[in-house]
Amino acid sequence: MKPGIYIHIPFCYKEKCDYCDFYSVPVDNHNNWNMHIDNYIKTLCSEIIYYSTEFLDYEIDSIYIGGGTPSLLESHYYVTILETIKKYYAIVPEIEITLECNPDNYSVQYIKELRSAGINRFVLGVQTLDKKAHHYIGRKPKLADKEMIEEFCSIPDIIACIDIIAGIPLQSISSFIHSLTTIIQYKPKHISAYILTFEKNTPLSVRIPHWERFANFQRKMFEKTIRLLTSSGYRHYEISNFALPNFESRHNYKYWNFDEYIGFGAGAHSFYKNRRFFNSTLNDYLHNPIESRTEDIRTIKDIAIEYLMNKLRLIDGFYLQEFYSKTNYPPSSRFDETIDLLITKGLLQHDNIAGKERLRCTHEGMFMLDSILFELMSSL
Ligand code: SF4
Repeated sequence: MKPGIYIHIPFCYKEKCDYCDFYSVPVDNHNNWNMHIDNYIKTLCSEIIYYSTEFLDYEIDSIYIGGGTPSLLESHYYVTILETIKKYYAIVPEIEITLECNPDNYSVQYIKELRSAGINRFVLGVQTLDKKAHHYIGRKPKLADKEMIEEFCSIPDIIACIDIIAGIPLQSISSFIHSLTTIIQYKPKHISAYILTFEKNTPLSVRIPHWERFANFQRKMFEKTIRLLTSSGYRHYEISNFALPNFESRHNYKYWNFDEYIGFGAGAHSFYKNRRFFNSTLNDYLHNPIESRTEDIRTIKDIAIEYLMNKLRLIDGFYLQEFYSKTNYPPSSRFDETIDLLITKGLLQHDNIAGKERLRCTHEGMFMLDSILFELMSSL
């Protein structure tokens, strides 16, 4: 078995970005920052070592370091973490190791140091190149510019990936497409383009535009994004993700594909041996990382829902037989009828591939995923 390892670095800016609902801890809360980080990394390594005996039959083929803002930490911390993993786990020679980086902490020197530590894939959180949009979403890391993207994409021997946000009010569709064209000309290997969402209890949630055309505006912008990226050679493989051939994210694919991953660090989640776990927040985690891991007990229906929520994000969808075998959910005529209805409405597409029934969203369905999931879940 080849699971991925996820490492969570929960530290981030004192003030969060206005749209952010990720778990993060402000760095300024702690008087002695370096001691605090040293302590976190020690705890993290002890957790990595503790669980290693559970995975003796496994070979790790991806590691993803996310946050928070992992690039706030000096590179030697990643040397320590990766050496610990390599010492206690079997890893494949062509392992994919990814780190998220913010424009504030980005530098060629830093990336090169991390590359020497074994990290070979970097995600630069550009989000927007537009000053007004940057201000609207209350983004705290500085605004990236085209020089930074050009430099980042030309660093040798790394897989350069870029994250952007589409559908921000105040940015016109043409200005967004202009930014995207600027990014594409430097040929990052992978682009994640997320549509801005207004998560509950974030400062952004009170700014939801009431203009009727807003949903239409976001959809139009996203349709143009898909057209531009696919015509520029990027494969659209997940609703928000596009890759040049063979540069899909091996690690993130595991989440959508219902494959196994082991999460380490405060707030990290895991899925292995058909069980899900989540780690507690920072203070409890530092106190005892082993006790901080709690199993998320799920019913067969919960598992079926999770499967659908993840797999329908993939442009290739899923095989119905695999849905039943992986979730143990019993076939039902009600579920079949709902699928038929969604096919009739033009939201789902059914194909027969070498005798196997495959189900996936149509182009229209991609924009109606929430309604599709609601219908499918109600029929389980
Ligand atoms: S940088 Fe990322 S994790 Fe940190 S506050 Fe902003 S969106 Fe959240």
